[in-house]
Amino acid sequence: MALPTSLTPPIATASPTQSLEGPEPLLQARRLVTEIPGPASRALADRRRAAVASGVGSTMQTYARRAEGGVIEDVDGNVLIDLGSGIAVTTVGSAAPRVVRAVRDQAAAFTHTCFMVTPYEGYVAVAEQLNRLTPGDHEKRSVLFNSGAEAVENAVKIARVHTGRSAVVAFDHAYHGRTNLTMALTAKSMPYKHGFGPFASEVYRAPMSYPYRDEPGLDGREAAARSLAVIDKQVGAGNLAAIVIEPIQGEGGFIVPAPGFLAALAEWAREHGVVFIADEVQSGFARTGAWFAIEHEGVVPDLVVSAKGIADGLPLSAVTGRAEIMDAVHAGGLGGTYGGNPLACAAALATIETIEAESMVQRAREVEALVLPRLRSLQAADPRIGDVRGRGAMVAVELVHPGGREPDAALTSAVAAGCHARGVVVLTCGTYGNVLRLLPPLAISDELLTEGLDVLADVLAELGRAAA
Ligand SMILES: *Cc1c(COP(=O)(O)O)cnc(C)c1O
Repeated sequence: MALPTSLTPPIATASPTQSLEGPEPLLQARRLVTEIPGPASRALADRRRAAVASGVGSTMQTYARRAEGGVIEDVDGNVLIDLGSGIAVTTVGSAAPRVVRAVRDQAAAFTHTCFMVTPYEGYVAVAEQLNRLTPGDHEKRSVLFNSGAEAVENAVKIARVHTGRSAVVAFDHAYHGRTNLTMALTAKSMPYKHGFGPFASEVYRAPMSYPYRDEPGLDGREAAARSLAVIDKQVGAGNLAAIVIEPIQGEGGFIVPAPGFLAALAEWAREHGVVFIADEVQSGFARTGAWFAIEHEGVVPDLVVSAKGIADGLPLSAVTGRAEIMDAVHAGGLGGTYGGNPLACAAALATIETIEAESMVQRAREVEALVLPRLRSLQAADPRIGDVRGRGAMVAVELVHPGGREPDAALTSAVAAGCHARGVVVLTCGTYGNVLRLLPPLAISDELLTEGLDVLADVLAELGRAAA
């Protein structure tokens, strides 16, 4: 795929679409006015300790007051560079002008009637858009839910009804959510599953293609053959309802499988009547420089699961897929009180409009063209950077002990903490806790992105000197 050589100018904050009365646009620049976290954030942390269940963690110790474009302002007036998008959610920028207007208008019209009681156009329109945007030109249907986990779980329900089979295969390093079935599909015990069992049955795990950690030279087809051998032995195609896979794994470490891996699995699934489900919750919605990450591999999944980036932070998720599979479910078998909430649908339609009007699929490729070479040049001079990978605005560095591939989770936490203290929001991930992931909003300017990478480079250099 040819990458653009010229980068478009940063998207101005006060764009023509911004006609909202209200606060002045947030200045798109990093600004530290207190230590991080500042006194107002520390006071909120005290209240939180007394009120909020301690099982809920937060990456940042600062509390947000506003967020827009590529920045988050905290309650002390510090302005942080956002390289997280609230975990790949505010892809079009938090409080994107079209989204704000659409949600405000919808809230004034009606907030809820329940689609299962008195339906409304927004739900139908989101389904039409998803059917248009997801890969493949076959006849499709969509159904809407609230969270990614809820949608993954419903995709499995649909596949089971369609096939009349019960087994489901997920992969090493997979993350699919925190409900009972999706915990079972998720690979990592701590913190997602530890102590929360027993888990749903008939879930099996197959090896993932992980080019950095596989035997050197193992190509995508060979990695798929290794997975399919396990599936054949432990499950058997005749018992298998679905294969569920993230085309680029998210929480598991931004693992991009070797080329051909996904195609070989999809081909096998088609031959054996197994439903191929792409969990695009994190990788979808323009994030990787395509509407859906699986497009990079030329694979058309049977079902696609969307959430996170779909509605600029309003809770919405979806399953979209082949009409004959989706419509196998009996009347009343799918639904939920809030699924396809009208505010969330309005936000999704405005998000899609923003992505198309502002050429954000292309913008994600520009972000890749800016970020990947910079990280690769850091890697060339730093043996602690074992791998740099990702697509579009979904990019990661895997940190290791020099001289091998042994994961360095302590360094990863220290780098993240160093970035946070300097006003840059970065997240970590990975089965071994040693992956720094960058998920900037596509509304971020090149200047902010570059400054965020400068801070990351400085922090890495300082930690290197401290260790020497
Ligand atoms: C976040 C995530 C989920 C779960 O989504 P929730 O909205 O948190 O339930 C599922 N799959 C993938 C790939 C995700 O990244």
